[in-house]
Amino acid sequence: MNLSKSKYCQGVQCLKILWLDKNMPEIKQDTVKDSVLDTGSEVGELARNLFGRHINISFQIDLSKMIEETKKVIDENENVIITEASFSYQNHFCSVDILKKNGNSYEIYEVKSSTKVEDIYLEDISYQVYVLRKCGYSITKASIVYLNSDYERVGDLELDKLFKIEDVTKIAFSKQKEVEDKIESIEKIMKKKEEPDIPIGMYCVEPYDCPFFSYCTRNLPEKNVFQIRNMRNSSKFSFYEKGIFKYEDLLKEDINEKYKEQIEYELFDKKDKIEVEDIKTFLDGLTYPLYFLDFETYQQAIPMYDYIKPYMQIPFQYSLHYIEKEGGKLKHKEFLAKEGIDPRRLLAEQLVKDIPLGVCTLAYNMRFEKSVIKNLAGLYKDLEKPLMDIHDNMQDLMIPFKDRKYYNRKMQGSFSIKYVLPALFPNDPSLDYHNLEDVHNGSEAMATFANLVNLEEEERNHLRYRLLKYCELDTYAMVKIWQKLLEVSESEEK
Ligand code: SF4
Repeated sequence: MNLSKSKYCQGVQCLKILWLDKNMPEIKQDTVKDSVLDTGSEVGELARNLFGRHINISFQIDLSKMIEETKKVIDENENVIITEASFSYQNHFCSVDILKKNGNSYEIYEVKSSTKVEDIYLEDISYQVYVLRKCGYSITKASIVYLNSDYERVGDLELDKLFKIEDVTKIAFSKQKEVEDKIESIEKIMKKKEEPDIPIGMYCVEPYDCPFFSYCTRNLPEKNVFQIRNMRNSSKFSFYEKGIFKYEDLLKEDINEKYKEQIEYELFDKKDKIEVEDIKTFLDGLTYPLYFLDFETYQQAIPMYDYIKPYMQIPFQYSLHYIEKEGGKLKHKEFLAKEGIDPRRLLAEQLVKDIPLGVCTLAYNMRFEKSVIKNLAGLYKDLEKPLMDIHDNMQDLMIPFKDRKYYNRKMQGSFSIKYVLPALFPNDPSLDYHNLEDVHNGSEAMATFANLVNLEEEERNHLRYRLLKYCELDTYAMVKIWQKLLEVSESEEK
């Protein structure tokens, strides 16, 4: 089989992706995380129940067996719902997530774990309509099934509210000529021996980050426009298309001061920028006792507990370092929820015990911590007062870095703690996330916690310990950053 739904969509994004994937698969870089794939299949399986009784065509390596089985079910049933119904026309294969047969007419439902209908989904379903029509089936409806971000679970899951269905029949029908042309282009390019000459463009990052981007930009200088932090992709490609991609050339352009600063620091190896007065003003706004808080959260595409919406941030862990008075000892508290239960109530109760009323709490990028606390306060009215007290007294340790009051070239234009920390402490192994085991970043923490429920006790305990160590490092890193700010502000005073 030559083509599938996903390959067709890759071809729509850029024909060269398919060619490289076939001829040079070893240079591909991972861009899709396993947890994302898992979410997709979980949502797909649940959506099948929207349609009641159905017959599933199980996956087989030999796709022709799936096609034969599909034909048999279709032939034997006047009206039937089939999941993973599989078809092929001239080696262009597709499995339909949900196919509804009503006599001689057929409806296609493509399930997505997203909360909106992306343009690329229309390409996907148009390809399915094309294959089925070419196989001789009369398609009367094509729809996308996706998650309703406004749905909040209360009691049993209500599938008809959790999912939305958008009828895209007209669009899919109007794209049939485009599909035919695209398939022709794909076939042509796949026959080529030599690598297709396709320049980079916005399609390298939309709708998905291309796994071959490093390869296709390998001839650019090491420092180039694609490394400018926070510049819009459209601006980056616009500069690139005008031949302006070297740092030296970008400096001559009318660009934002922060982009210029990033370039100048990296090109000219400038000394650290430390605006002492502003740093002092920031530090003067902090009072003892001083708390350093960091949450870990995870998301569920399908809400498992009450008062949760699809993809809502659910806190399951926090780390809290604190210093009671100037020159006082650094102390630590932490919370990690038991797996398999709604973690929020116990976490909120523990949090308000651990942080006294009226104290200053620092977070790094506090918008996130504040939104988590506000959600908890909205949910548990009896804890609203102490939770909102933490919320209202929170300060953001990111500010001096976001405002570039403290900057050096190693931050590479970023104010994220994952850049700021190694830039301030380049040779401190105790602050190096690479030296942690199993859990090194927020995504891994999220996936690890979500999977704990499936593990044997020994492994579960080991990973719980690793989660604690990871989160502890997050707030310890904040303490070190705060101390560094104190140090640079004091050294200037002497
Ligand atoms: S990086 Fe861009 S040009 Fe290269 S294969 Fe990917 S999408 Fe195509």
